Amino acid sequence: MAKTGEPQGDTARAMEEKAEGRLRELFEKMPYPASIFLFTDEGQNEPFNQAAREVLHILHRVSPKIQIKEYDLGHEQARKWKIQSSPTLLFDPDRCKARWLGAPIGEETKTLIIALQMLGYRTTGLSEDSRKILKKITSPRHIKVFVSPTCPYCPQQAVNALNAAFERPDLISLEIIDIQVNPDLAQKYGAQSVPQVFANEKLIAMGAQPEELFMSSLEKMEEQRIYIPESDAAELETDLVIVGGGPAGLTAGIYAARSGLKAVIVEKGVLGGQIATTPVVENYPGITQVGGKALVDIMVEHALQYSTIFPGEEVMEIQPGDPILVTTNRRRFKTRAVLLATGARYRNLGALGEARLSGHGVSYCSTCDGPLFSGKKVIIVGGGDSAVTEALNLRNINVDVTLVHRRDGLRAQEHLIKSLQSNNIPILFNTEVEEIRGEQQVKDVLLSDNQTGHKRTMKVDGVFVAIGYDPEVGLAKKLGVELTPDGYIKHDSRHRTNIHGIYAAGDVEGGYKQIVIAAGKGSEAALAIFEDLINPYWKKSVKGMGEELIAESS
Ligand SMILES: Cc1cc2nc3c(=O)[nH]c(=O)nc-3n(C[C@H](O)[C@H](O)[C@H](O)COP(=O)(O)OP(=O)(O)OC[C@H]3O[C@@H](n4cnc5c(N)ncnc54)[C@H](O)[C@@H]3O)c2cc1C
Repeated sequence: MAKTGEPQGDTARAMEEKAEGRLRELFEKMPYPASIFLFTDEGQNEPFNQAAREVLHILHRVSPKIQIKEYDLGHEQARKWKIQSSPTLLFDPDRCKARWLGAPIGEETKTLIIALQMLGYRTTGLSEDSRKILKKITSPRHIKVFVSPTCPYCPQQAVNALNAAFERPDLISLEIIDIQVNPDLAQKYGAQSVPQVFANEKLIAMGAQPEELFMSSLEKMEEQRIYIPESDAAELETDLVIVGGGPAGLTAGIYAARSGLKAVIVEKGVLGGQIATTPVVENYPGITQVGGKALVDIMVEHALQYSTIFPGEEVMEIQPGDPILVTTNRRRFKTRAVLLATGARYRNLGALGEARLSGHGVSYCSTCDGPLFSGKKVIIVGGGDSAVTEALNLRNINVDVTLVHRRDGLRAQEHLIKSLQSNNIPILFNTEVEEIRGEQQVKDVLLSDNQTGHKRTMKVDGVFVAIGYDPEVGLAKKLGVELTPDGYIKHDSRHRTNIHGIYAAGDVEGGYKQIVIAAGKGSEAALAIFEDLINPYWKKSVKGMGEELIAESS
């Protein structure tokens, strides 16, 4: 009889073989070899040296077009290229000035694979607009991108920087810096959240950016938040534009296309939405326990079989009409319907010092920034499932964590509370954070007991905020979509909003916030949209929500 572990082992091996097969195909088509130098020093960061070596050797085994040379830090090649830390990867120095201080593991393996393709094809996939922006750069830029292998947002920003360095090797040089391998450098730059980008020693971006915004920030040497595409931006025609690539949007993409609609998914940040940063998911049917990012990968792979996904692209404007015009920061869509699956974004604490120290010890993502605080002391603020899950995640990576909650009891699931207790994570009940203090980085917090009024200072290196999420309704409001008194998108039972052709699904509609529910709403909305679009009796003038369908002939 088969042991329970065997099928899972077989599945994992089958998935590995499939992934290797795909990579082989990808690399074999490259017209040129991609060459990488690995520099190591036995006494420095040996586990990371070994990890870097293993990843590179696997890739070389997959295709001989990936050419690896390894040198000791004492070798003349190390002196020639001024390499001082171990491990360092140097991308073909004849083609570009890009190096990687650390091991390309975890999320960062993706970045490495894209870099290898840039070398092998000798081209970047940059948009015309990005190229135009880069052409405007006339003086040198030295970029430093701080990343972590556990950060799902980091590859997007690292790839942006690689694109810039590959496109303009005459003026742009790049160091990708893994904060786990180089905590001293992260400390020196005050880079306590990832990704962060410095150019010529100046902070120019925090968090992941769409491609054109990254290039504009690099050109202007300060963070840019808005990029307006030029008037001749590409225009695509489709039946349905889905705004948001979280579980609701991805599922809607599958269902819409299976119904016969041409659907596209536009995602401004990281595919998977909130799950991308969820350490562990234990309640998605059919999968007992899975890392949030692993679940995202499965969903994205599935959605890609049906819909086109435009990642790193933000929907900036929607003009209702027939057709509806959707403008992103890169192109325009003419579409018959739009599904707003924009989800929710984390809530700020509102404490003094929070905004100023965000990215310098104040964090909203333990999965991304947790490793920076290994061996250090932090508080996590909140009392629900997210706060407890993230506290357990931090403890698991050797962070000294205390939970701070303003009420006298937690609102998390029983089994999470039990784990919190069995891990001896201290909890400060009835406690509020009044101020987060520190010059360049968080040094301490001012806590107040809301029962006694007693105030005290607690020395900490970091503050993680997990106090809930607000619906992401900026775009909906701009469009004139009606909201509920709680600020969610008002919709009828078929997910229609008050604007003809505009629908909503997922967390942005309110109700229970769970992956399976968001996915369910996404599928339901896609089916409703399909029925509305094919229904010859659906009169164009129907205003949507709450109205009966009016037969055109009536
Ligand atoms: C820390 C944490 C742990 C969780 N754990 C669990 C769990 O264990 N089990 C569970 O069932 N649920 C869990 N949840 C809840 C679950 O993740 C959400 O209910 C679910 O992700 C909602 O899906 P959604 O698609 O509606 O929205 P989201 O996941 O929020 O996705 C919306 C997407 O839309 C994108 N977007 C927004 N505006 C635009 C725009 N203008 N242009 C382009 N894209 C845009 C956003 O970038 C985002 O990626 C957790 C949530 C968090 C935060």
